[in-house]
Amino acid sequence: MNDCIFCKIVAGKIPSTKVYEDEDILAFNDINPARPVHVLVIPKKHITSLASVTREDTLVLGKILAKANEIAIAQGSPDGFRVIINTGRVGQQEVPHLHAHIVGGPDPVGPMLKRI
Ligand code: AMP
Ligand code: ZN
Repeated sequence: MNDCIFCKIVAGKIPSTKVYEDEDILAFNDINPARPVHVLVIPKKHITSLASVTREDTLVLGKILAKANEIAIAQGSPDGFRVIINTGRVGQQEVPHLHAHIVGGPDPVGPMLKRI
C-alpha cells in the first residue's frame, strides 16, 4: 500500500532495525521502545488490522505468533514476553498495518491493563 509506513519499511524505503525476516513476515525494533525488548512483527503483505483479516491470512497470522518466542529469546527476553496486537479505535491502534508488539527484557513487563 502506497501511503503505509510499515509497507514502506517492508519495501526498504524507510529504514528499520530488522531482527527477523522471511518470505511472509518482518520483525524490527520499535522506534520508541516501551521495554528493553520491543519488537514489531508484521506481515509483509498489507493487512490493515485484526479486524480485516480473511481466511487467506491464517498462515501468516500463525507465523507471527509461532516466531515470537524465537525473536524474544534472540533479542534478550529468555524468560517470557508479552504479545500485544492493538486493533482499531478501541484498541488504540496507531499504525494501520497489522503488527504484533513483542515486549520483554530481563524484568516482568508490568500489569496488563488498569482494572475498571
Ligand atoms: P500501535 O499503537 O499498536 O499502532 O503501535 C505503533 C507502533 O509503531 C508504536 O509503538 C511506534 O513507536 C511504532 N513505530 C511507528 N513508526 C515506526 C518506525 N518508523 N519504525 C519502528 N517503529 C515505529
Ligand atoms: Zn501496509
